[in-house]
Amino acid sequence: MKTMTCRQLGGPCEHQHHGATADDVIKAQDRHLKDAAKAGDTVHLPAHEEMKGRWRHPKRSLGWYRDTKAAFAALPEG
Ligand SMILES: [Zn+2]
Repeated sequence: MKTMTCRQLGGPCEHQHHGATADDVIKAQDRHLKDAAKAGDTVHLPAHEEMKGRWRHPKRSLGWYRDTKAAFAALPEG
């Protein structure tokens, strides 16, 4: 298991996501942003909009996914 924070994934807070793969933490961050938006959390709105943009434009977002996966791969285990 590795840990990435909301901030490491482009968000504004230090909420931690744990996962075995980069996709796990990316999915957890998507959920976190959705929950924050639903709760009326304006601090997370820009990151939430970016996340929705990534779903709409997956090709344009490949760089973000590649960078995030590389950052995840570089993290220590544990
Ligand atoms: Zn957050």
